[in-house]
Amino acid sequence: MSSQDQRQVKTICPYCGVGCGIKVLEGDEPGEMRFMPWADAPVNEGSICIKGGAATQVVDHEDRLTDPLIKEDGEFREATWEEAYDLIVDEMERIREEYEPDAMGFFGSSKTMNEENYLLQKLARRYGTNNVDNCTRMCHASTVWALRTSLGAGAMTNSMADLEEAADIFWIQGANPGEQHPIANSQYFRQAVLEGATVIQVDPHANKTTKSFQIDETDRHMHLQLKPGTDIPLLNVVIKTILERHEEDPDAGWIDEDFIEERTEGFEHLKETLADFDKEAAAEECGVPLEDIELAAEKYAMANNAAIFTGMGMSQHTCGVDNVQNEINLALITGNVGRPGTGVNPLRGQNNVQGTCDVGAMPNVLPGYQLVDDDEARESVEEEWGFEVPPEPGLTNVEISNAIGDSVHGLYVMGENPVMSEPDANEAIERIENELEFLCVQDIFMTETAEYADVVLPATTWAERGGTVTNTDRRVQRMRGVHKGHENTKHDLEIICEVGTRLFGEGFDFDDAEEVFEELRQVCPIMYGMTYDSLGEEGLHWPCYEPGDEGDQFLYEESFDTENGLGQIEGVRHQPPKEVPDEEYPLVLTTARLEEHYNTGTMSRRSPTLSRQHPENFVDVHPNDAARYGIEDGDYVKVKSRRGEITVKAQVTEAIKEGVIWTTPHFAAASANVLTNNVLDERAKIPEDKAAAAEIEVGVEPTQAEPADD
Ligand code: SF4
Repeated sequence: MSSQDQRQVKTICPYCGVGCGIKVLEGDEPGEMRFMPWADAPVNEGSICIKGGAATQVVDHEDRLTDPLIKEDGEFREATWEEAYDLIVDEMERIREEYEPDAMGFFGSSKTMNEENYLLQKLARRYGTNNVDNCTRMCHASTVWALRTSLGAGAMTNSMADLEEAADIFWIQGANPGEQHPIANSQYFRQAVLEGATVIQVDPHANKTTKSFQIDETDRHMHLQLKPGTDIPLLNVVIKTILERHEEDPDAGWIDEDFIEERTEGFEHLKETLADFDKEAAAEECGVPLEDIELAAEKYAMANNAAIFTGMGMSQHTCGVDNVQNEINLALITGNVGRPGTGVNPLRGQNNVQGTCDVGAMPNVLPGYQLVDDDEARESVEEEWGFEVPPEPGLTNVEISNAIGDSVHGLYVMGENPVMSEPDANEAIERIENELEFLCVQDIFMTETAEYADVVLPATTWAERGGTVTNTDRRVQRMRGVHKGHENTKHDLEIICEVGTRLFGEGFDFDDAEEVFEELRQVCPIMYGMTYDSLGEEGLHWPCYEPGDEGDQFLYEESFDTENGLGQIEGVRHQPPKEVPDEEYPLVLTTARLEEHYNTGTMSRRSPTLSRQHPENFVDVHPNDAARYGIEDGDYVKVKSRRGEITVKAQVTEAIKEGVIWTTPHFAAASANVLTNNVLDERAKIPEDKAAAAEIEVGVEPTQAEPADD
């Protein structure tokens, strides 16, 4: 390879789950790394959003961790890698001897690659615990649960390309692709609308998605602006409308009776659940005119192909599994699954959140979603690995955090920032600071979590190493890195191999990511047919069971991957958020992300381009609420919940409903997660980040810190 070739690589954007291809050009000096378009990239064909274009800005940032750090007497000192590894091994062995393997927790990272997450979950299981999880718990754990249980796989049923070509209706509920998946929104969804498709958006907030589809005077866009936490009643109005119309005119095609009969079970349960359902009362509860919901129901049911897109507005609720189940119900009764342009499709947030789950960095599943408590599946993985895996599911990351000081005493965090991402963040900090005996953080920056660590390991960035990532429509793609910029940093894979080898002697001796991938595919049936060679530049969609398979663009053409091959319909009833407004906290607080920022902001706050647009947090307040409180646009206000308070600038806007306020989790000085409620969906254990009771206090001084860069 010539030196010119070595300096320019085709890789994948490190931000959202769309998986856009970009080129990275290494500079001669630190800070000179450049982004370049990759014109024939398979997903985006050269288009790029603001985040992708700015992605290289943080690679050579002056804040990069460059050497291992060990905390002594409350202060960090530079350490050698030998010292760092010795401390990690000593502490992990001590914790296992003093307590038990389940006293450790492991956080994988949706910002890191399949091979790295595969090895981290193997490390946890070799240590003797299934306490391993990743940030999907905060975003789509409930979606994954519902899709896996009712259809078979915890992923998009379809692919963006077939949706653009075939879908007549895009039903987008609780998702904001205009802001969070900009290239999917512009290149696929908006393109389809320009060619005649219709968008029905269900969201409490009028956002960039809303604006992006207000294309002309036609009725090809509807926005049902519901109150947070009323998704189940809204969908029940839709489903009941379809059932009623079918009763009135059975031949009009309101439901797909053959599909229901041959490919599903549970339809009777759905009908019984809705037998005494009051549509008028439900529409009022949702805050949406009944006739608008009925019109949306008609458009969905009468489409040739209707596709549902689901986001965190659906999943981040204590009824998150049931929210998504009701979307599945709607798709199944109308036969909108198993064909191009249909299905139920979660838009995944981080560039590898899909892959991190696929490779088993979750407490209840092994690679390829094989259940840990399924003896046959577990034993086949054990045979390949050469050690036994605990047969009971472990704790999720929120459960690990909640158990600190009780059953959990040590934490290994790779590339995550739980101090900012956990709900009720002040409590999480309290436990990590005062109750945790050992914290190891492996990252590229001194994150808010790393500040509390005993040992911090400097990792390399996405642009400096190779591996694979899996995008939101199950496409596994290769990332390729240029030379690393800081000599004493190490790749995540190298670090885990070294820790694993020192702890266990064998099972973690790999030369490179490709060698890890070769082991991964042996224990991950949905990826068995893939090799680095066959992935090439286009990548492959899973499932890809045998070498030579081309992977599936859409799932369930013949049958579902459930035990009996049938899609599972199950009627669900309204479950209000666990905390509703009262006299003390009269507003509903809801949260979401911004186009220019990324989760806890570790990377995006350090990008001059990205932080310029939104250098600090803010709260959206409806004009009528603003008038009641005496708030002018731009005033600083204190937003308070039972768990904490943040001071932010008020943005007075009709984009939000009266009685609802809206803010973001990206800013360390004023994160929404100081306010959010640490209550979980019973099955998926996802926190209810989308609805809490809140109050506003006016007449306060600004307290937000300056962004890391201006
Ligand atoms: Fe990156 Fe997502 Fe933007 Fe594509 S849409 S460039 S993957 S942030």
